[in-house]
Amino acid sequence: MDIEIHWFILHNAPMISTDYIEVAVTLPVNQTFVYGLPDTFRPDACPGMRVLVPFGRRRVTGYILEGKEESGPYKTKDVLDLLDDHPLFPESDIAFLKWVAGYYIYPIGDTIKAAMPAGLACMDVSCAFVSVKGAQALEAGDLSHEEARVLGLAAAKNGISLKSLSRRDPAGAAILRRLEKKELVQVTVVLQKETAGIKTEKFISLPKQTPTQQIRMSAKRQKILSIVREAGEVSLTSLKRNVPTAPNLIKPLAQAGWLRVFSRRVFRDPLGDPVTPDTPPELTDEQAAVVQEIQGRADVFSPCLLVGVTGSGKTEVYMRLVADAVEKGRGAIVLVPEIALISQTERRFRARFGEKIAVIHSMLSQGERLDQWRKIGLGKVNIVIGARSAIFAPIRNIGIIIVDEEHDYSYKQESGLRYNARDLAVVRAKMHNCPVVLGSATPSVQSCLNVVSEKFFQLELTRRVNNQTLPEITLVDMKKYQGTWGTDSIITPELGRGIRSCLEKGNQVLIFLNRRGFSTFPVCASCGKTLGCPHCDVTMTLHKGEDHYKCHLCGHILAADIRCPDCGTGKIKNLGFGTEKIESMLKTLFPDARVARVDQDSTARKGSTLAILRQIRNRTVDIIVGTQMLAKGHDFPAITLVGVICADLSLSLPDFRASERTFQLLAQVAGRAGRGEEPGRVIMQTFNPDHFTIKAARNQDYLEFFNQETPFRKALMYPPFSRMIQLKISGKNAEKTRDHARLAADLLEQLNTREPKAQILGPIEAAIQKISARYRWQILIKGASSGNLSRMVSAMVRDPSIQKVKSVSIAIDVDPYSLL
Ligand code: ADP
Ligand code: ZN
Repeated sequence: MDIEIHWFILHNAPMISTDYIEVAVTLPVNQTFVYGLPDTFRPDACPGMRVLVPFGRRRVTGYILEGKEESGPYKTKDVLDLLDDHPLFPESDIAFLKWVAGYYIYPIGDTIKAAMPAGLACMDVSCAFVSVKGAQALEAGDLSHEEARVLGLAAAKNGISLKSLSRRDPAGAAILRRLEKKELVQVTVVLQKETAGIKTEKFISLPKQTPTQQIRMSAKRQKILSIVREAGEVSLTSLKRNVPTAPNLIKPLAQAGWLRVFSRRVFRDPLGDPVTPDTPPELTDEQAAVVQEIQGRADVFSPCLLVGVTGSGKTEVYMRLVADAVEKGRGAIVLVPEIALISQTERRFRARFGEKIAVIHSMLSQGERLDQWRKIGLGKVNIVIGARSAIFAPIRNIGIIIVDEEHDYSYKQESGLRYNARDLAVVRAKMHNCPVVLGSATPSVQSCLNVVSEKFFQLELTRRVNNQTLPEITLVDMKKYQGTWGTDSIITPELGRGIRSCLEKGNQVLIFLNRRGFSTFPVCASCGKTLGCPHCDVTMTLHKGEDHYKCHLCGHILAADIRCPDCGTGKIKNLGFGTEKIESMLKTLFPDARVARVDQDSTARKGSTLAILRQIRNRTVDIIVGTQMLAKGHDFPAITLVGVICADLSLSLPDFRASERTFQLLAQVAGRAGRGEEPGRVIMQTFNPDHFTIKAARNQDYLEFFNQETPFRKALMYPPFSRMIQLKISGKNAEKTRDHARLAADLLEQLNTREPKAQILGPIEAAIQKISARYRWQILIKGASSGNLSRMVSAMVRDPSIQKVKSVSIAIDVDPYSLL
């Protein structure tokens, strides 16, 4: 009895008193299953805990959803093991998780698995182990080349799962069967646990007793001792900064008792700096009005679009709302896009709330993430800051959800469970009866439309704090410099002069070029129009191998040597210059300036983004060249000039949201200028100075953009005026994949009976037709109601003719962002 009371206090979860439980297994099956709960587990079992259950001939992980009085019509098996001491998610979240699974048409068990931190599932897997005979054969070398390779893999990994073998080697499975017949390997089923380690760091301090053993004291050893003596305690990482060979040097010192070396778990500010507590500033009138309005709705579901120009103090508003919710005994979730921004927002929240927050993002190790999760689950913290996956954090009784930079594309998960955290924030807030604040300087078209249709209410912050002026934006028409020699066509004289005068004043320059992985984009060299599909209002993509342009929505084709259809004369140029080229040009033009580059290539190594951000903050660089990674949310007071190399680049993305993306990027990047004392300036180079997107960005006017963009979307029935589901069909065999895609489309046609009918586009081959030896096809379904689309797709994927084909998979993307 004692134990039960203890549990009850710990997690408030109802104990299960029934003989059966409903379990969601982590397998791609749509329904849940009922298992018997043996007496031994009953005192401890709660909804939200993991169990190990038999499934067919295997054992898999499942999640307890609820107790059941009866077993149902089938013979039930018993739970084999209870895997948790505490539930991973509260019972109150089960309705939310079920909703997510239903909406995104994703198996419930896999949905829960995707929502939880990684490293929790265990499952039976077939593994191949090298037999004694196999080891001898390997040593003797009397094997064929490929047999030796596969056997070598199994030997090196001390047993390899069939799954990871075929990932490394497509022919691996067949070779393995041969090896098994020859008794060179044994294939057995083992229970594999994903492991989540806990991140620790080595620390060094002086021992309590004086060392007994005398050893030779080299200069370096003495240096280490004096550093440790002075600091009292120092991490090995920071010691290595002073003495690079420290790891080797401390070992003999520790053995002789001169130093104490120990491991400790680390939680630190990602920038490595201490965070000093802050005191809340007095709110501006505008901020106070916004806070008051939202607080007035604290106990009702009220979605709010908060439009605040860059630097208007939105983060301060968020912190007040969070403090208010916490004071009332409720929890808060704060979503921010991507890593670099988390560190900045995290700093500010830590300064305000100290250790009361948990942080969830991809830079944490699996173990750290699990740890944060547990802390939240046990109710030790009730504020969570994180990237998109933090929307699933097991906070009970949520009092507010905040989505900063709500327009940001990183809220969309693009693999597995393809959810949109921004949309889920609204759903979860509804279930918790609390306000949800979507904040942005450049709100999405979708959210603006939700304001127009009165699903959301809107609040605004129109002025920068301290009344800094918004930067002045100048457009430079790049067509003027087409065909000129040297760098003028890329860094125009206007931009060059701007950079020079900024550097002369000792300020920093940010040069922005958005490449998003596209090496080329088709633009008419004389009229500046991008080459678009005549049917779809998206840009054509050059397929180099096939020597033509292709529309990724409808499959329309144009010859690779086409003249501009708009002006009839111009040659299409596939522009392609990247950040690296810009960097070297700037170094030539400004030999005295320190130039740094921030893009996917330069920041591939973990931690290097933060290192560059630190350089910018410490003003050890003068010119920063970067992609959209730099456009977001950063606050660098010394940047007074932002230069945009080619504002049109993202206009040419083959996506109906290309204009929206471009507007948001340009307005955001412009917002990086002039956040300190000095006013900022933006120089935007463009081929299309008259395009409404570029003009709206120059005026930093999201309403101007919205009003011009929506008629296009409406006329072509694009979201948010319609709903979409995209199906991504892929398989290893080209014909089978194509046939499966056609079968799926045929079934959808048959299911398309309800009025108003959905539009089924495709199947077409994907832009990248083959990725890791899988052929790819797509079907796009467009319609007025998501309910109807979802009904059609669910019925299609459950159809026996689809189910029986195991070699081709269909991934479902509800509300897709990337149509490629
Ligand atoms: P946003 O998130 O809208 O871009 P921030 O929240 O980053 O704006 O605010 C910009 C700057 O103004 C920050 O340095 C912040 O500390 C400061 N700030 C915000 N609100 C106030 C206030 N009421 N009084 C003084 N400074 C403020
Ligand atoms: Zn088209």
